[in-house]
Amino acid sequence: MTEMMAPALLVEDEETGERPFWPALRRGFMCRCPKCGAGPLLKNYLTVRDHCPVCGEAFYHHRADDGPAYLTILIVGHLMAPMIYWVFVTFRPEPMVMATFFTLGTAILALALLPRLKGAIVALQWAKRMHGFTENPSSDPAMPDHA
Ligand SMILES: [Zn+2]
Repeated sequence: MTEMMAPALLVEDEETGERPFWPALRRGFMCRCPKCGAGPLLKNYLTVRDHCPVCGEAFYHHRADDGPAYLTILIVGHLMAPMIYWVFVTFRPEPMVMATFFTLGTAILALALLPRLKGAIVALQWAKRMHGFTENPSSDPAMPDHA
């Protein structure tokens, strides 16, 4: 019975050593640990935890940086800009109604996507063994010494 309660760990392929990419990305997008899928990846709103509280996988060496903000702006902009045009041409709403609707819609969509995209980028780095997610982080020339 306890095996059924244990989180499903994503393990690398024995031949290639690659970690499953899409399941990890899905778990990251859901703000869950990409390895076990059970532990929360973020604390508060956007802070990545140092370690998974369930499986202990280390996340302190992630390098999400500006990636989540860039992707959020890219997605929200490409959704809202054509929508503004379509709504204006189709319905001709009052300017204040349209401004209020799109200001709220843009803010809500951006705030909802930002932590999910941050989780997805951390999961991508985990799946592709980028930065400190390698077997031996000290061998990664992009990583500063954490001694
Ligand atoms: Zn975990």
